[in-house]
Amino acid sequence: MDCIKNYINGEHVDAASGASLDVVDPATGQVYARVPDSDNADVTSAVEAAVRAFPTWSKTPTQERSKVLLRLADLLERDLDRFAVAECVDNGKPLKLARSLDIPRAVANLRFFATAVMHFSSECYATDHVAINYVLRRPRGVVGVISPWNLPLYLFTWKIAPALAVGNTVVAKPSEITPMTAFMLSELCNEAGLPAGVLNVVHGAGAGAGAAIVRHKDVRTISFTGGTVTGASISQTAAPLFKKVSLEMGGKNPTVVFADADLDAILSDTVRCSFANQGQVCLCGSRVFVQRPMYDSFVERFVDAAKKLVVGDPLDDLTDQGALVSEAQMDKVTSYIRLAREEGGTLRCGGGAPTSLPDRCRGGFFIEPTVITDLPVNARVNQEEIFGPVATITPFDSEDEVIGYANGTPYGLSASIWTRDVARAHRLADRIDAGTVWINCWLLRDLRVPFGGMKSSGVGREGGEEVLRFFTEPKTVCVRVPNSE
Ligand code: NAD
Repeated sequence: MDCIKNYINGEHVDAASGASLDVVDPATGQVYARVPDSDNADVTSAVEAAVRAFPTWSKTPTQERSKVLLRLADLLERDLDRFAVAECVDNGKPLKLARSLDIPRAVANLRFFATAVMHFSSECYATDHVAINYVLRRPRGVVGVISPWNLPLYLFTWKIAPALAVGNTVVAKPSEITPMTAFMLSELCNEAGLPAGVLNVVHGAGAGAGAAIVRHKDVRTISFTGGTVTGASISQTAAPLFKKVSLEMGGKNPTVVFADADLDAILSDTVRCSFANQGQVCLCGSRVFVQRPMYDSFVERFVDAAKKLVVGDPLDDLTDQGALVSEAQMDKVTSYIRLAREEGGTLRCGGGAPTSLPDRCRGGFFIEPTVITDLPVNARVNQEEIFGPVATITPFDSEDEVIGYANGTPYGLSASIWTRDVARAHRLADRIDAGTVWINCWLLRDLRVPFGGMKSSGVGREGGEEVLRFFTEPKTVCVRVPNSE
C-alpha cells in the first residue's frame, strides 16, 4: 500500500498524530493508499517553516526563483508517464486524458508562471510636473492554497506556481480524495532545488487541515478552488481576519447552440464540453440550450454521440469516460438523475452504470453519459451543480429568451456559444453573466487571460497578470519633483 507523506520544511513526514485516511482507486473501489490526516499541529509546523523560509525566498533574485520552477517543470515532464498513471488511478479519469491534458498542463503552469514573472511590471504615473508615483509589488508572505479533486495536479500547480514565482512561501492542501500527484510533486522539489520551507504540502480533510490553514494568523492570503459551500465557509473565517481571498467555485454552465451552427462541425466539441472528465470539469456545459429549428436533430445526434463514448477501465487507451471520483460523488449524481425523473425529465440515454465493465472495475464508480430533456429551466436539476456526466437539453426561440435561461442560476463561471453569426455571438458574450465565454470552442485556454467566475462561482480572478497581482501587495510611492526654477 502506498503511504503518502506531508512535505514540511523540505522533509517528508507523517501527520504528528499518526492519523491517516484511506485513498480509494475509483475504478475498482479498492483502497490503494493512505494519506496523512493532518491537523492544527501539522499546519502550524508547515506555517512556521514557511514563515522562516520567506525572508530568503522573497529576496532571492526573480531569475533564480524562475530557474527553480523551470527545473521542477522539467522534472515533472521527465516523469510525465508516471504522473499520468498516478492521476488516472487516483482520480478515475482516462489515462489518455491525464497524459494529454492534466500533466502537460501542470508542466505548462509551472513554465508559464516561471517566465511570466520575468515580465511582470508595475505602474508608474507622472502627476503633471509635480510628482512621480510608482508602485512596488512585494510578495505577501505565507500563502494558503486549497485545491479540489477534479483536476488534481493541474489546479494545484495553477496556484502554487504564481504564488512561488513572485516570492511567497506556500502551505498547500490538495484534496484528500486525490492527494497522490501533489505528493509525488513534493518528492521532486528537493531535486529541483526548492529551498526547505518554501513549499509545504499538508494533507488531510478539509474540516481539519484545510480549516486550520484558513484560520492560521500567519496565513494572510488564501487561494481556494472547490465547491461554493466550502468557499462560503472559508469566507466566513477569513473575512473578520481581513485575509486576502481568491475563490474559484462551482458552475452550472450554459452551452448555447443556434440553428445556424454547423452541426457536423460542432457536435463532438459540444459533447466533449458536457462529458469531459466524466463531466467533472467546473467549466463543463451541463445545460445545453438549442434553438428550436435545430432542436430535434441536435438531440438525436448528441444522444447518439454520447452513447458512443466508451465508458470503461480508465487505464485502457480506448476509454473515453472513466470512473467518477468517489462513491459519494456517484451517489450524488445518481440522486440527481432520480430527481430529474421526478421533475418530469425524459432520460434519453445513460442513467446508470454500464453493463460492459471489465471484472477489475466491477466495484468502481461508473455512470454512463446521461442526457435529459423536457425539464423546466427552473427545475433543481437545471439549477444546482451536479458535477457529473449529466447534461440537460432545452429548446429556445429568441436571443433574449436564451440569455434569460443562461443567466438564470446563481452561478456565472463559463458559457459557450455556437453560431455562424459573429455579431450575434459578440452580443451574447456581452450579456451572459460568466467569467469566460467561449465562441465556437470550449476549454481553449490561454494562460494569460483572466480566469474566474461571477456571482456564486467566484471572487477574484486567476491567470496571467491578475494572479501575479493577487499574490503581491502593491505599495504606492509618491516622489515630489522639486521645481527647478
Ligand atoms: P470541496 O469544496 O469539497 O473541496 C475543495 C478543497 O477544499 C479540498 O481540498 C477540501 O479538503 C477543502 N475543504 C473542504 N472543506 C474545507 C473547509 N471547511 N476549510 C478549508 N478547506 C476545506 O470541492 P471538491 O468537491 O473537491 O471539488 C468540486 C468543486 O470544485 C465543484 O463545485 C467544482 O465546480 C469546483 N471547481 C471549481 C473550479 C473553478 O475554477 N471555478 C475548478 C475546479 C473545481
